[in-house]
Amino acid sequence: MHYEAVIGLEVHAQLLTRTKAFCACSTAYGAPPNTQVCPVCLGLPGALPVMNGEAVRLAVRTALALSCTLRTVSRFARKNYFYPDLPKGYQISQYDEPLSERGHLDVEVGGATKRVGITRVHMEEDAGKNVHHEGVSVVDLNRSGVPLVEIVGEPDLRSAAEAAEYLRSLRDVLMFAGVNDGNLEEGSFRCDANVSLRPAGEAKLGTRVELKNINSFRFVERALAHEIARQQAVLDAGGRVVQETRGWDENEGVTKSLRSKEEAQDYRYFPEPDLPPLVVDDAFVAQVQSTLPELPRAKRERFVAELGVSAYAAQVLTGHPRVAALFEEAATLHGQPARLAAFVQSEVLRDVVTHGLDARIPVSARQVAGLLRLVDAGAISGKQAKEVYAKIVGSERAPEDVVAELGLVQVSDEGVIEAVCRQVIADNPRQAEQLRAGKASLMGFFVGQVMKQTKGSANPRLVNDVLQRLLG
Ligand SMILES: [Zn+2]
Repeated sequence: MHYEAVIGLEVHAQLLTRTKAFCACSTAYGAPPNTQVCPVCLGLPGALPVMNGEAVRLAVRTALALSCTLRTVSRFARKNYFYPDLPKGYQISQYDEPLSERGHLDVEVGGATKRVGITRVHMEEDAGKNVHHEGVSVVDLNRSGVPLVEIVGEPDLRSAAEAAEYLRSLRDVLMFAGVNDGNLEEGSFRCDANVSLRPAGEAKLGTRVELKNINSFRFVERALAHEIARQQAVLDAGGRVVQETRGWDENEGVTKSLRSKEEAQDYRYFPEPDLPPLVVDDAFVAQVQSTLPELPRAKRERFVAELGVSAYAAQVLTGHPRVAALFEEAATLHGQPARLAAFVQSEVLRDVVTHGLDARIPVSARQVAGLLRLVDAGAISGKQAKEVYAKIVGSERAPEDVVAELGLVQVSDEGVIEAVCRQVIADNPRQAEQLRAGKASLMGFFVGQVMKQTKGSANPRLVNDVLQRLLG
């Protein structure tokens, strides 16, 4: 029989606050165990939580980025369970009155756009971490009380590939929105999945299995594909899928049972008595909305429609917020986005190293734009540009200086160059007027004309300087 997979993902994302959700402890990653704790996040008797306003602002921003409807008054609840990494014996979460509901995320799947529903986005705190090392287990509570959003997706995904794409898109949205660093390795973006199969065409859902903590993009697709195949084999053999929680074993490449439905916990949710209801009024929501950065999908569409770069280039250039920012700044300085996009893709990206929201980009927008302007001006060839690029990477050097050092420049007599510049401006009064009126991209035109007049022998930096002076 042909079966259809039904997948829904639940993502826990750490909000980028400096301090924890309900106390002033630091959220910085990598500190020695139990050095970022206080009576509140240790769950000591009598300690009272105080809501972190920045966490609320980032949670609202997350909800807005996912087109959710916000609840003006939401409520915190205690989710009770016992585990060594949970000193209070409960986690502060939201239950029947979450911060927001009914959003969506548009995902590109196989060349088409698919809208995936978001059931809800709510706030909660993280638990601590059990660390197992060389036969010894310790509890590190540095993470205890770190603010999270839980993003519950509708069971709209139909394959492992779709689920992986949804997860990538969701991570990109959170990173561009500036609410999360997308760092799976450090656990600030984590995913659980609900997977079931049903006969194709059937509306009723099959028995679902919960897959816990699939913490790498490399494995999410494999884990889901394996679980779909496992359930298919059970059904094909005439068996029944058992409702249970399974974990992904990366070493063996299989999912394994962790606990069955009979062992499922009753969390005995009840309203958190130590926190008042959370109120986000229309003015606050409007204020957060007004500071929401441009999201990757809108950015891609604008790069294509307004800057004329290819859909593929737009996809590559929006792979990281910092890369997108470098491209835009350089494109503005240079004036020819499509050419700049090609250069950034072929040369610059090779040297970019990203870590979460951080990116090491060893060249500035000004350097890249200046270099391409030299090529436009005919001062150096495209091949020489790569040579010059190799010399400016990791330095603050102006490409013009490297060109001069490499002996690629001839005429540097300012008097001679100024005479040519004046002539070119006199010959092109309309362009000169437009440039003075603010059309900066015309600078390339003037540089090009001067270089043409001097048969490529003028020092482009001087040409730029003189033109800036005459046209500025
Ligand atoms: Zn604390």
